[in-house]
Amino acid sequence: DTIAEHKPFQAEVAELLNLMVHSVYSETDIFLRELISNASDALDRLRYEAIANPDLTADGELPKIRIVPDKKAGTLAVIDNGIGMDRQELIDNLGTIARSGTKSFLSRLTEAKDGAGLIGQFGVGFYAAFMVADRIVVTSRRAGAAEVWTWTSSGGNGFDIAPATDEDAKPITRGTEIVLHLKPDAQKYLEVYEIERIVGAYSDNIQFPIELKPEEGEPRQINSASALWQRPKSELTAEDYKQAYRSIAGAFDEPAMTLHYRAEGRQSYAVLLFAPSTKPFDLFEPNRKGHVKLYVRRVFIADDADLLPGYLRFIRGVIDSEDLPLNISREMLQNNPQLVQIRKAVTGRVIGELESLSEKEPETFAKIWDAFGPVIKEGIWEDFERREKLLALSRFSTTAGEKRSLKQYAESLKPNQTEIYYLVGDSIERLKSNPKLESANARGIEVLLLTDPVDAFWTSAPLDFGGKPLKSLSQGDVDFGLVPLLDDKVGDNEKPAADEAATIAVIKDALGERVSDVRASQRLTTSASCLVAEGAGRDRALERLLAQQNR
Ligand code: ADP
Ligand code: MG
Repeated sequence: DTIAEHKPFQAEVAELLNLMVHSVYSETDIFLRELISNASDALDRLRYEAIANPDLTADGELPKIRIVPDKKAGTLAVIDNGIGMDRQELIDNLGTIARSGTKSFLSRLTEAKDGAGLIGQFGVGFYAAFMVADRIVVTSRRAGAAEVWTWTSSGGNGFDIAPATDEDAKPITRGTEIVLHLKPDAQKYLEVYEIERIVGAYSDNIQFPIELKPEEGEPRQINSASALWQRPKSELTAEDYKQAYRSIAGAFDEPAMTLHYRAEGRQSYAVLLFAPSTKPFDLFEPNRKGHVKLYVRRVFIADDADLLPGYLRFIRGVIDSEDLPLNISREMLQNNPQLVQIRKAVTGRVIGELESLSEKEPETFAKIWDAFGPVIKEGIWEDFERREKLLALSRFSTTAGEKRSLKQYAESLKPNQTEIYYLVGDSIERLKSNPKLESANARGIEVLLLTDPVDAFWTSAPLDFGGKPLKSLSQGDVDFGLVPLLDDKVGDNEKPAADEAATIAVIKDALGERVSDVRASQRLTTSASCLVAEGAGRDRALERLLAQQNR
């Protein structure tokens, strides 16, 4: 009566699997990290659900992850006693792609020359197991459920889903067993020392014990199984932090910034946060989801509890509170006053850390700025309270050089210069040949050249830095007539000839209603004319951006 049902994979999964099966990517080790991380997530979720429903863990079984190699059968099993999956969850979770990261991974894949390289840069989750296995059997019992289901797939042709046989089901009280039938060239993953090496390299700071059951001998724990963020800084090395970053963020790069501290006082909580050194795919997804996990006294509560503002969504890591109630529901997180306070304090710390990094290690900061500057600049627009700080953090290309700060700009103001000037456009090259720069250049006035799409937005807020307003050269009147010319042969600072009014009248007459006004300008030295937006009007670059987005 146990009829297997066959189901096809969602098209994207089929595409991804095809890539995995035929992968020539050499770093296949990462499959184990992905499976262990899923097992750890499943244990986290069980612990969370058991807060509201203690029956789920009433059996007293301790959470753990087991790895069982079997050379004779050529199989490697990864087993957890976590939340498990019912039939529908097996179908949904292991048949479709829910992760936005994996989706954008796939969309990049078509553009990329080196697909295999991308696998290494960005985790592809469960499906990575098909790099080393030609058949995978997943047997799972959802915590609290009676039935046990088996999901089987050899990659290409979809998967079978069937009730588990009694014999398969019996040992599983709850949780998931994943059995990989290893490809001939992946048999090395049956060696105890290989497994230990990989767990040590990628998964050591998984919070739950990971046990290895050798073919002969007793199971033994092969990780340290402590929440790294709870350990004192003095005990931890740069290597420990790198590993923690990679395992918490599912990343493969180096952290460019690490912030680890414990707050004590009105509230106590541990903070372990990282800034990546490379850009993830989903950085510009419209949901602007954050990546800081919330724990309460070591228990995982939520992946994205809105612990940092949207413009810091590139920050990865963990905040572990001692004070929040364990039974806080995810819905209640939204306006919880304690969390609001934590968010405020941690945001300040992150910005402070970025600030000090920019001073002490400008090259490391430059990496962060290159990858995430456009995101951080969203904050200038939306975080009024920290606007000045974020402006100070920002780096710009200007007519005087690259990666200039506004502090540097302010230090090189010309005599009588009272404003900070900028131009928004598509590319530095095009901006540099913009006639609107002529007069500024002739006076040696530095101009910010802004080419990120987000620049059109934040500049539409009224801004000043150190008391100097920021002003667009393509908007309204600019007044730097009091700033002396570098070389007074280039142009003439005095009032133009008397026939100015007559010339303007002729041009106005010719252009009619197509322009709202024609004026004499100080912007130009060698060009005859240029178009500018009205003082209070939208900047032309912003108008173009909005037009592109059909707004
Ligand atoms: P991700 O972990 O980023 O969600 P994966 O491809 O690694 O993506 O896993 C897909 C989904 O399959 C998980 O989100 C989870 O719902 C489910 N899953 C995978 N492994 C397990 C497991 N051991 N226990 C319970 N659920 C699992
Ligand atoms: Mg995963």
